[in-house]
Amino acid sequence: MSGLSVSGISYSYGSRVALDDVSFEVPPATFCALLGPNGAGKSTLFNLLTRLFSTSSGRIEIAGYNLNNDPRQALSHLGIVFQKPTLDLELSVRQNLRYFAALHGLSGAKADKRINLCLDQLNMLERAGEKARSLNGGHRRRAEIARALLPEPDVLLLDEPTVGLDTASRRGITDYVHDLAKEGTTVLWATHLTDEIRSDDHIVVLHQAKVRAVGSAESICGEVSLQDRFLQMTGATPL
Ligand code: ADP
Repeated sequence: MSGLSVSGISYSYGSRVALDDVSFEVPPATFCALLGPNGAGKSTLFNLLTRLFSTSSGRIEIAGYNLNNDPRQALSHLGIVFQKPTLDLELSVRQNLRYFAALHGLSGAKADKRINLCLDQLNMLERAGEKARSLNGGHRRRAEIARALLPEPDVLLLDEPTVGLDTASRRGITDYVHDLAKEGTTVLWATHLTDEIRSDDHIVVLHQAKVRAVGSAESICGEVSLQDRFLQMTGATPL
């Protein structure tokens, strides 16, 4: 099974509880939005999914591999786009991807072929020789997504990937990642922006460390808009 399973996960920073018994499943080839306001616990969960943090509670399975018992296998099926940009700005796009490919054991002609394919899919091939520093925010994000796709991950995590981007870039990246899920990648997309979510997406609403709702956008909303439902569930008031 190439999906993602999170079961009974808790995490605290000292006395501050960031995740409290969080459980949900993302079936294979599904776009799942992890929807929560600032402070909900989204980044903490991502740090646990990528093993930057660890917890003895609960269980995480990536593509069927238990992250605690079999971390190498589990992480080899995972791609990640962090919230904070992580490209080396002094290197070209291609150099950034080559370096990453080498870390994953891909080099030479094989790596170049895969790099060209991934950059092409993100309409970034003609920018391969440009320094990352010279790219705008949207193109940097595209390069990071291409990089995350190099090892052909079954499960792709993106932590608020459109923060700071203009409307056209946001739309382009959101559409592309929805297409990836249709083609077979399991996607967990953390956001607080309801307009990035489509009616048939899977949603996990996280608020104050707890899962408040799980299901399709349609099933969670009923008659009201997702934005209104989200504001009701998280107790926030519109500006
Ligand atoms: P989100 O990504 O949804 O904004 P976070 O996972 O960053 O949420 O934060 C969840 C909770 O944990 C918040 O209450 C936040 O203040 C707290 N928190 C996050 N990082 C730390 C830290 N390093 N030390 C103490 N508290 C933290």
